[in-house]
Amino acid sequence: MTNPELKVADAIREVTVAMQKAIADGYRSRMIDADDLVEVLLAIADRLDPPVAESVAPEFACPECGERHIDHLVWETDDLIRCSACGITFDPAAR
Ligand SMILES: [Zn+2]
Repeated sequence: MTNPELKVADAIREVTVAMQKAIADGYRSRMIDADDLVEVLLAIADRLDPPVAESVAPEFACPECGERHIDHLVWETDDLIRCSACGITFDPAAR
């Protein structure tokens, strides 16, 4: 999915469906309070930006192409990382 607005809409839909099911199954009250609102907002945020990161922090991105996905940055030796996106090998400590 490339359109960020669609991604946000899908996250809201998924959380809404989960909430409706929880209400229908009797796990959740129809009354909403501040704690429920916080929980819903955090659930949407987690879907958009999962807590288990699949991207490295910007300072550890590939210096050549900026790749950040962990699947594309693989330790080649004890101190060198190879970027499978552009093919370079770099020392993440050398910056
Ligand atoms: Zn790269």
